[in-house]
Amino acid sequence: MHELSIVSSVVDTVMETLAAYPGAKVKEVRLRVGALAAVVEDSLQFCYGIATEGTDLEGSKLVVHVVPVLMHCVPCAQDVELAGLQSFRCPRCGEPVLDLRQGRELEVESIEIDEVEEKA
Ligand SMILES: [Zn+2]
Repeated sequence: MHELSIVSSVVDTVMETLAAYPGAKVKEVRLRVGALAAVVEDSLQFCYGIATEGTDLEGSKLVVHVVPVLMHCVPCAQDVELAGLQSFRCPRCGEPVLDLRQGRELEVESIEIDEVEEKA
């Protein structure tokens, strides 16, 4: 499953970061996902629950931040946001746009951890 391998690598990334914070618990992981990355958020959430089981990430929340597709339009001399993925044409002038500036991201945007030791 596509999403499970994505989530596994996300968990690995977070675990590496966590190595610098012994005893820390992860509260929230924010993922930045481009609209072209072709992932299904429900599947990501489902896989996240499985992949984090028994790890320091267990019980943390996965927040998926979907970023729109941005292409650079030469005639308009600016980056334009595609309205949909059916057509790779500039929504302003109608010219084909090929220069992808944003939309394939799949990365950990931020990790929120709780460094406080066990509360009395
Ligand atoms: Zn244009």
